Amino acid sequence: MITLKEALTKSKEELESLKVEMEQKAKESGLNAYIDFSTSGEGVPILIKDNIQVKEWSVTCASKILQGYVAPYSATVIENLKAKGFSAFGRANMDEFAMGSTTESSYYGVTKNPYGEDRVPGGSSGGSAAAVAGGIAIAALGSDTGGSIRQPAAYCGCVGMKPTYGRVSRFGLGAYASSLDQIGPITQNVEDAAILYDAIASHDTKDSTSSDLPLESIVENLNADRKLTIAVIDNYVSEASEDIQKAYADTVKALEEAGHTIVHKNMANTKYDIATYYIVATAEATTNLARYDGIRYGNRVEGDNLADTFLKTRSQGFGEEVQRRILLGNFVLSSGYYDAYYLKAQKVRHLIRDEFNAIFEEADLILSPVAPSVAPKIGSIHDPLEMYKSDMYTIAINLAGLPAISVPVAKDGEGMPIGLQLIGKAFNEQAVFDGALSLEKSVNYTK
Ligand code: GLN
Repeated sequence: MITLKEALTKSKEELESLKVEMEQKAKESGLNAYIDFSTSGEGVPILIKDNIQVKEWSVTCASKILQGYVAPYSATVIENLKAKGFSAFGRANMDEFAMGSTTESSYYGVTKNPYGEDRVPGGSSGGSAAAVAGGIAIAALGSDTGGSIRQPAAYCGCVGMKPTYGRVSRFGLGAYASSLDQIGPITQNVEDAAILYDAIASHDTKDSTSSDLPLESIVENLNADRKLTIAVIDNYVSEASEDIQKAYADTVKALEEAGHTIVHKNMANTKYDIATYYIVATAEATTNLARYDGIRYGNRVEGDNLADTFLKTRSQGFGEEVQRRILLGNFVLSSGYYDAYYLKAQKVRHLIRDEFNAIFEEADLILSPVAPSVAPKIGSIHDPLEMYKSDMYTIAINLAGLPAISVPVAKDGEGMPIGLQLIGKAFNEQAVFDGALSLEKSVNYTK
C-alpha cells in the first residue's frame, strides 16, 4: 500500500480507483477489519473507527444497542480532515464501546491479525490497525482510552499515536471514559503519523477540555537527528515476556548508538495502575452509557412499561464486557464505596502523574513496552482480569494525560510484531515524533 505521504500526491481519479481496490482487497482478505465501505467524498481516504461520527454515516461503537443510529453531524476530527484534503473512507471494527484489548467483543465478530490469522489484532482499535498492517487502508483513526491505539498498532506491526489529552477534539467521539479518551492516528510509519496528527489536532470550543495552547506543524519541524535524553524504567520491563525484554534491551542500545542519552529510572507506583484505571474508566463509562436507553438512540426493545423498556433494551443491547463495566462503575460510584474506591483512585491518579513529571525533569522521553506479550491467539483469554492485566504498560499514560507513540521494533520467534512506546511530556508532541523517527531509523524493522 502507498504511504499517506505518497497518497497526498495522487490525483482525484487515482484516489477513487484506490478506494475501489481497497474495498475489493479488504473483502477478499478475510480480516474483518472493515464494518462497511462508506465514503465521505473526495480526498485521501482515511479509515475511521466506528466510534467517531461522520455525518449521515451509521455509527454503532460496534454495539447492538446502536444498530440503526445515523450520525446527525461530523466529529471535529472529520471536519479537520476534510479541510486538509482528506476524506473518511470505511468503518473500522473495534471492541464494543472501545472496551477491550482484542477486538473480540465486537457485534460484528472478531478481526484477525494480518501477521497470523489465528491471532487477535489487539484492541480496541483492532480494525484500524489490522487494515493498515494488512495493506487495505492507507492510514486510520483510532481512539485511545487506555492503550487502544498503541496496543493494536504494536500487535500488528504499525505505528499508533495517542496525543496529549486536550490536543485533539473529542467532539463527536462516542465517549467511553471522557477524562482519558483521545483520538489519534494509526499509520504505516512515523512520518505518516505526524501528517495525520497535524491534520486532526486543533483547538475546539465544542470540547470543553480542548487545549488552546499554540499548535505548530510537527511534520515541518520533524528532526530525526535531534539528540534526546531518554529514560528507561528498569523495574517496569521485567514483567514483559523474554522476547519483549530482549527487544527492549536491543532498542536501548540502538538509541544509544544513535546518539541519545539514556538515563535509568524506577517507578514506585506502577502496581496501582490497573486498579486505578479500571475504577476511573468504569465510573466514567457507567455515566456515559446511561444515555443509551432505547429512547434517544439506536435500538429499542419494547417492554411492558418505560422501566421495562430500559431494562430489556440495555440487557439485550449491551454485550457481556460492557455490562460488566457498567456494574463495576456503578459499584465504585455507589455512596457506600465512593470514598474507598473512586476518590482514592483519583488521588492515586495524581501520584502517577507526579511520578512521570519527576522523570521528565531529567528526560525528554520515556521508553516502555506497549504490552507484556505479543498478540495472543483468538479465544485464548477467558478471564477478564487477565485481559485487564495486558493493559499494564499503556493505561498510566492516559491517567497522566501524556502523549505517546508505539513503534514496531522487532518480531518474536514466531514472526509476531513487537512494539515499544516513547512517552513524552504533555504537549511536547514534537519530541515524541522526533524520537520516534530516530527510533524507526535505528531499529530498521521490516514487515
Ligand atoms: N483495554 C483497555 C480497556 O479495555 C483500553 C481500551 C481503550 O483504550 N479504549 O479499557
